[in-house]
Amino acid sequence: MPEIAFVNDAFMPLSEARVSVEDRGFQFGDGVYELLRIYAGVPFHLTEHLGRLEQSARAIGIPLPYTQDRWAAVIAEAVSRSGFPEAKVYIQVTRGVAPRDHVPTGSMTPTVVVTVRAIVPLPSALYAGGADVATVPDIRWARCNIKSVGLLANVLAKQQARDAGAVEALFVRAGHVLEGATSNVLIVRGQCLVTPPEGPLLLSGVTRRVVLGLAQEAGVAVKERPVTEEELYASEEVMLTGTTIEVLPVARVNGRPIGEGAPGPVTRLVMARFHAARG
Ligand code: PLP
Repeated sequence: MPEIAFVNDAFMPLSEARVSVEDRGFQFGDGVYELLRIYAGVPFHLTEHLGRLEQSARAIGIPLPYTQDRWAAVIAEAVSRSGFPEAKVYIQVTRGVAPRDHVPTGSMTPTVVVTVRAIVPLPSALYAGGADVATVPDIRWARCNIKSVGLLANVLAKQQARDAGAVEALFVRAGHVLEGATSNVLIVRGQCLVTPPEGPLLLSGVTRRVVLGLAQEAGVAVKERPVTEEELYASEEVMLTGTTIEVLPVARVNGRPIGEGAPGPVTRLVMARFHAARG
């Protein structure tokens, strides 16, 4: 089954997809993106992902070239052409192609790329036993709520975590834990599910919001407030959320066990609720 790309209004195999070297996404990281998950052929929380794409694009002044209906139709067709019922879809929109100049001048046509790839799940042992994560200093900019294609700090953080034998890096800024390199972080303290509040220093995760809602429905108290690194180590449970990892229990942070060093009851409850919600 082929991996599919849609580039500026045309579908093609991913291996044949091309953009110009003058594209501002390539030259400057001047663009935004979304990643969404397809379960049994159907996009999960498409409206929320398209809403965040709109917000990211607006924040950096890129006019989105398609309506929500058009995005939905492109994604549906790309998924259907791929034949992958379980897939991940990336949408990337850059400011467009122009001779290299930091200042974007003249009218540019945004470059649109949509790709469909098969899902490669994390090993099931990580969900059963919990994952290792490592903290890293947050060297990112101060607009982390924009889902920018400029991901160098996230790439370096993830590499640093891998080198330390961890699957995810947790960004710490001024003593506070904000989020993972590709995930949001939630802790359990006194049976309450706690996560850092939305704002410019973290991405407003779609999975994070879904999980907070599911936890509340299940009678778990939920609080959005700052979390210190010290508090992280003292947590009863820690979990990560993200479009591809879904809900991932954390067993150890920097080698220090969290709680019993295994998925705790609130995490297991939330995981079960999430599995039921995604179908
Ligand atoms: N935070 C960052 C930095 C991310 O890159 C991601 C997803 O890739 C998330 C959080 C989780 O967001 P979502 O649940 O919408 O996938």
